[in-house]
Amino acid sequence: MTVSSDTTQLQAHRANFRRRVLITGGAGFIGSHLAETLLAQGHEVTVIDDLSTGRFENIAHLVEHPRFRFAIDTITNEAVLDRLASDCGVIYHLAAAVGVKLIVEKPVHTIQDNVIGTEVVLRTALRYRARVLIASTSEVYGKGVAVPFREDDDVVLGPTARSRWGYAASKMVDEFLGLAYHSEYNLPVVIFRLFNTVGPRQVGRYGMVIPRFVQQALKGEPLTVYGDGQQSRCFMHVHDAVNAIIGLAAHPEAVGKVFNVGNGEEITILDLARRVLAAVHGEQVLPPPDGKRITLIPYEQAYAAGFDDMRRRVPDTARIRALLGWQPQYTLDDILRDVIAEKRAE
Ligand code: UDP
Repeated sequence: MTVSSDTTQLQAHRANFRRRVLITGGAGFIGSHLAETLLAQGHEVTVIDDLSTGRFENIAHLVEHPRFRFAIDTITNEAVLDRLASDCGVIYHLAAAVGVKLIVEKPVHTIQDNVIGTEVVLRTALRYRARVLIASTSEVYGKGVAVPFREDDDVVLGPTARSRWGYAASKMVDEFLGLAYHSEYNLPVVIFRLFNTVGPRQVGRYGMVIPRFVQQALKGEPLTVYGDGQQSRCFMHVHDAVNAIIGLAAHPEAVGKVFNVGNGEEITILDLARRVLAAVHGEQVLPPPDGKRITLIPYEQAYAAGFDDMRRRVPDTARIRALLGWQPQYTLDDILRDVIAEKRAE
């Protein structure tokens, strides 16, 4: 064999090797969509998930795929994570505590999972020089009021007595750690802050508002709007989120930076409830009074102590748009259509 064919073989091997990716939390709502899309793009995909909030049924349709493999385990089992990561070019780190309800009810588990888990992932990635995409969250903007939120804005968290901010702080530590591994060890790390992301496979159990409202509307129950319903959010379809994440993984200039990933279409939660009712029942969006169709529930009744809500949360996505040309392709109506279709089929 000549030197040049050796080199070609080595390059081919490397290119192949780099096509394998690892997704932590790959049986979760977002991770499973990411796995599907990466498989469709020709990647070899490995998933690790401890099924704490992820569900095996999210990946059951992938297990026979020749380029898919998975392990049911926690990412803090470093021997397993090491074995899985050793032939991966990219690690998408999505495994984390999710959902405001869960975070407020299990603060110890939240902080430990987020901080220790991310440290283990980064340490492992460093051994193989894998690129790491770390999922962060718009929660890190805390109680900031200067919307839209830009990546370099100052952050304002509430007091430590409220455990919601422990989640925000733990994700900030994840970001600090990731950026530190980049600056100190030159590890290629990219941080993306997901704003409210919705779509099929998201469950309402951990508090997420859209699957909850859709399930309530389908059962004919009143929709539970917390507080006065004037707090607002912007909802992004999971397919838009997946495209953004994959785009960031592929772009060399994303490394060492933080990106907002969200949809700018803002809606109050009360108006969201009306939109869900209209979409499920095919009615026109009715003005108040909403009578028996919507119930306002005080926050103290809705959440355990340790909860604090934010009034508005809007992303500024100029940075990712400038780098990738990315912008959301799905509207809130698309999201509601897809979620309603899924919940109806269930
Ligand atoms: N919310 C609500 N009713 C519910 C669940 C949530 O009014 O049954 C509100 C919640 O208080 C927040 C918004 O909907 O103001 C979005 O909540 P979610 O937990 O989906 O995400 P967050 O943006 O709080 O992380």
